[in-house]
Amino acid sequence: MRVPTPLRSFRVYPERRSLYWEVRFYRDVPTMRLAYGFYRGKVSSKVSDGTARNFVRAEKALAITAATTFVNFRHGRQRTSPVLGRLFFAFGSCGAMILSHEAAHATRYYLIRMGVKLDDPETDERFARILGDIVRDIAKEIW
Ligand SMILES: [Zn+2]
Repeated sequence: MRVPTPLRSFRVYPERRSLYWEVRFYRDVPTMRLAYGFYRGKVSSKVSDGTARNFVRAEKALAITAATTFVNFRHGRQRTSPVLGRLFFAFGSCGAMILSHEAAHATRYYLIRMGVKLDDPETDERFARILGDIVRDIAKEIW
């Protein structure tokens, strides 16, 4: 079985910083779930901490946010990859509800990676702004 090719593939940079989400759109939901299965198999050995547990149950998912933390070792030095993970979508099933749902997950994982306290009231507006930006950035690519 071959790794499914996404119909659309692009990056989203929350707050225009260096960290980014890889966004993948597939033909339909079964193809998207299959692609996620390959991705999970590929990354599980490279995930540096407990983020594998963040993988959601994919069997029923209409879209998936897979947060990962990669560590690159080069010249004996350790460097965390700027990849936040990958967002899996399927054309046809991705409407406003699913897009905003995954954007909420993506925003939360991003802020955790940035070391931001989510229960801080000061974070509320920042969270909402990032979520809105992610929704807009993805929507303008596909709608
Ligand atoms: Zn969810």
